[in-house]
Amino acid sequence: NVTSIIEHSTEILTTHASNKEMDIEFNAKEPHYVLANPIIETVFTNLISNAIKYSPEKSKVVVDVKEEGEFTEITVTDFGEGIKDEHKSTVFDRFKRVNKTGVRGSGLGLAIVKRTIELHKGDVGVRDNPEGQGSVFFVKLKRYAEEP
Ligand code: ATP
Ligand code: MG
Repeated sequence: NVTSIIEHSTEILTTHASNKEMDIEFNAKEPHYVLANPIIETVFTNLISNAIKYSPEKSKVVVDVKEEGEFTEITVTDFGEGIKDEHKSTVFDRFKRVNKTGVRGSGLGLAIVKRTIELHKGDVGVRDNPEGQGSVFFVKLKRYAEEP
């Protein structure tokens, strides 16, 4: 149940978010079953912690879960600094850091996300936030048809 896995990773990050007076909005009321190893929680923890880290104080992070054909799509939307088109594919490379000012990190978070999603035969990417500044990271995972 990916809904409860994401819920758990947002709970873990609430202190991180409230330190910046940020809210994490989570839009998934029902359980969504996907074919995944429990390591998948790291994907959501990395994406949501990036969304918090690269956003200004008092902004928000929105997490949505939707059914898309044979996939479940999870999106993490932020209203932060955004990612330029020329960096959209390379941010997934190991040790790649685009804007090194201020915030610390190893540059491994998104490489781990990408590899983990590849192992699951899913899909991951980033686009601009259509509502203005910021980014939308999406993850697609194969739905698990039978409810356990
Ligand atoms: P860590 O290994 O601690 O996660 P990191 O956050 O620097 O380090 P990644 O998570 O791999 O590394 O992200 C790579 C780079 O992509 C970041 O350094 C940052 O420049 C950019 N980035 C990632 N997420 C966002 C985001 N939501 N908004 C803007 N830039 C981002
Ligand atoms: Mg990171």
